[in-house]
Amino acid sequence: MVSTHNLGFPRIGAQRELKFALESYWKDASSLDELKATGARLRRRHWADQKNLTWAPVGDFAFYDQMLDMSFTLGNPPERVQGFQGDALDNYFRVARGRSAKASHSTPVAAGEMTKWFNTNYHYIVPEFKADTAFALDASRLLEQLQEAEAQGVHAKPVLIGPVTYLALGKAKDDSDKLALLERLLPVYVELLDRLAAAGVEWVQIDEPILVTELDLRWQQAFKTAYAALAKGKVKLLLTTYFGALKGNRDLVMALPVAGVHIDALNGREDVDALVQHLPAPKILSLGVVDGRNIWKEDLEALLDWLEPIAKRLGDRLWLAPSCSLLHVPVDLKSEQKLTADVKSWLAFALQKLDEITLLARALNEGRGAVAAELKTNRAALDARKGSPRVNNAAVQAAIAAINPASGQRQSGYEVRAAKQAAILKLPPYPTTTIGSFPQTREIRHARSEHKAGRLTDAAYEAAMRAEIEHCVREQEKLGLDVLVHGEAERNDMVEYFGEQLGGYAFSQFGWVQSYGSRCVKPPIIFGDINRPKAMTVAWTQYAQSLTQRPMKAMLTGPVTMLNWSFVRNDQPRSTTCKQLALAMRAEVLDLEKAGVRVIQIDEPALREGLPLRKAEWQAYLDWAVECFRITAGGVRDETQIHTHMCYSEFNDIIASIAALDADVITIETSRSDMELLDAFDHFKYPNGIGPGVYDIHSPNIPTEDHMVHLMREAAKRIPPKRLWVNPDCGLKTRQWSEVVPALAHMVAAAQALRTAAAAR
Ligand code: GLN
Ligand code: ZN
Repeated sequence: MVSTHNLGFPRIGAQRELKFALESYWKDASSLDELKATGARLRRRHWADQKNLTWAPVGDFAFYDQMLDMSFTLGNPPERVQGFQGDALDNYFRVARGRSAKASHSTPVAAGEMTKWFNTNYHYIVPEFKADTAFALDASRLLEQLQEAEAQGVHAKPVLIGPVTYLALGKAKDDSDKLALLERLLPVYVELLDRLAAAGVEWVQIDEPILVTELDLRWQQAFKTAYAALAKGKVKLLLTTYFGALKGNRDLVMALPVAGVHIDALNGREDVDALVQHLPAPKILSLGVVDGRNIWKEDLEALLDWLEPIAKRLGDRLWLAPSCSLLHVPVDLKSEQKLTADVKSWLAFALQKLDEITLLARALNEGRGAVAAELKTNRAALDARKGSPRVNNAAVQAAIAAINPASGQRQSGYEVRAAKQAAILKLPPYPTTTIGSFPQTREIRHARSEHKAGRLTDAAYEAAMRAEIEHCVREQEKLGLDVLVHGEAERNDMVEYFGEQLGGYAFSQFGWVQSYGSRCVKPPIIFGDINRPKAMTVAWTQYAQSLTQRPMKAMLTGPVTMLNWSFVRNDQPRSTTCKQLALAMRAEVLDLEKAGVRVIQIDEPALREGLPLRKAEWQAYLDWAVECFRITAGGVRDETQIHTHMCYSEFNDIIASIAALDADVITIETSRSDMELLDAFDHFKYPNGIGPGVYDIHSPNIPTEDHMVHLMREAAKRIPPKRLWVNPDCGLKTRQWSEVVPALAHMVAAAQALRTAAAAR
């Protein structure tokens, strides 16, 4: 008999119940008990949703983040919160957010650093270490949830982050060697496993996803040491990896003394044969065969063709699961009322994915005949998807085939272009600009939601947005900025705004996925060949340009960011989908140029996010990502100035690709690093224009003129001043006008001071 299980369930709730309960508690609008009751209710419902599985996860629920939960379980909250007297959950929120609830409870502290969970859009709170970090078990959270599960009759499988991944993803605050802590950490894990065994637990899922990354010898040895120690416990360990293939770590994994191994059999399909053949009995092999990161129905018959011989060989030793935790997909497709029937029939959210797992197991255990009707429906949906004219667009496919090296090639090199652009734009040295958005005020958001609900006519909405754009242009003129923007008032989101106007995109109503804490995103769905029925931004940009003599910079989202922030179709390579996006955006760029726009910014803030987990695979990604950007930008005349923007600060390891984008100007986030990150551009001798951010837009603080002059002087030590621009770190959408106006006034004054000083020399 093949068993089934799940690695983790989306904790936020189908209606984002956890989000609203958290935010209400943080505002002091509800009590801690009410929040805890919501948590318990969600766990109960989610276990009920998983009742058809052999094993359901316990401990995958978290009020904020699973890594932070683990830090508390291991008695390793940051030092600065250790003296806290009060409810443990409040202390937990202090680490997560810097404070617990609004006014009540304790003084604020520095929040824990947050970073991306592997290559997902989920963010975890980074564990903090020091050379003298000590650990102490607090098993209360897990034991309580285990009790709840058992009371509900759940076949419970507790979920832990494994010790090696826990150390690997943490940060040594004093630069000490965090691996040295392993020896102190392991006894706490052993004690925890003993406690779970005493509570009647048979299997524990122990997540070690860093096994899909390149590990040096010390980290490989850490795995051997750790699992030798944990093998002494009485529970069975299911060593769990996901998001990629084991590759070079495969033999290491097979030799570890654990009772079972889970792998992501979709992204790590290359490992499957070896594990099926060589994983020694009686070890369990759990195959993640349903994509936990994407929202498409699986091809169940194809999976069965593959799995049947494996099941025959492994028998009871085969378990089936999603490839990874279902944290990364929305909960229930059934709630969707607005997707077209065809697209909806191609999708599977978390609950539907669990149905697929149970169905596959039944087919393996009882024969395909037992699920013949379901297999037929599945086949019909997949066939319809494959043959759908909404998916396949011959014109788009022909355009992709016609891409050639010249598509991504500007007419001349940077120097020639820069001279022609200077002659037209006539900008002063240290030109000032912004990144695109201006404050998204309550009025703007209100007008948008009224329009969407049909309570505001198209004409009235358009008039409101035009008024907003005019206000924005007038403010920028008053401030004396050199290259203006229209302010992006009409855009809800930088991907959705374009997706809604492109063919091949669909939008869910409730497809929320946790990004961090109570924050969720609703990624658009790319289901078909991307096409652009008509110009998307030209009218707004022309209107904005008509209001001023100064150059108006048009704003577009780049193809790589569109791709990385969407659920992407899985029936062709991501690079092909990205090229389709590139062609659509290229057409927009050319229409803008034709309409007389002289400066066009193509934002790529998510370029870095698409990097594969293994460095060995980076270059292949970067090559097509760069090509797609170049296709988008490459068709314009020398006189048209192309900007790009990225809001992060690590460029060292990808600087060659950044240069290969060949944008005339790149604006980046630098204000917090005191311009040190420009070293990468300096050492590489980055050849084009750069606008290093001088205004930290994540903070309500208003930077002084002196500070910005200081930052630009630091920048000028590394980049020739004639290639420098002066701008904020990122868009101003989340700020207030009352902050933005004085900050930009200081920024313009700083640029003027730099010009005067340069002229005097
Ligand atoms: N143009 C966008 C804005 O200004 C860029 C946002 C981003 O970099 N994430 O909001
Ligand atoms: Zn940005």
